[in-house]
Amino acid sequence: MIDLLPLVRYVPAAEADSNGFALGDGDWVDSDLKDVRLEEHNSRCYFCLEDFEPPETKSSQTLVQSRSDGADHEPLRQYLCGHVFHKYCADRWMHDNLKCFLCKADLYLPEATEERPDWSALFKLVRGQDRIIRRTVNVDLLQTFQYSWYMQ
Ligand SMILES: [Zn+2]
Ligand SMILES: [Zn+2]
Repeated sequence: MIDLLPLVRYVPAAEADSNGFALGDGDWVDSDLKDVRLEEHNSRCYFCLEDFEPPETKSSQTLVQSRSDGADHEPLRQYLCGHVFHKYCADRWMHDNLKCFLCKADLYLPEATEERPDWSALFKLVRGQDRIIRRTVNVDLLQTFQYSWYMQ
């Protein structure tokens, strides 16, 4: 069940214009993981309070031989609400908890997701999101969805 939640990597948010569109993306090395852009003040794991490390850029990789320890950045786990933590920290939390550590949003989709178009739409939105995570927007959205779901 935990593995339904996407693994992502952190990249620093580029300068954003007033509409929230990222300008001037970094030249990050390729990754299979989806990029999640976070503003600097959000770019840490709130479990262990360590800042996320940005990936190396292509230019730094060709100039400097990539680090000999070969340490890839640990993939991050993104919860449905959009919050991102170290995979290790996030998964450990999920063993004993059903709500996001930060915003108390549900970590799990209700049963029979397919029959709940509102929930699957939300899930797609979280997965498809490739701009800066705007926590308030996500939380508001989640609450709206929950509200309409309970009203049925
Ligand atoms: Zn952590
Ligand atoms: Zn959250």
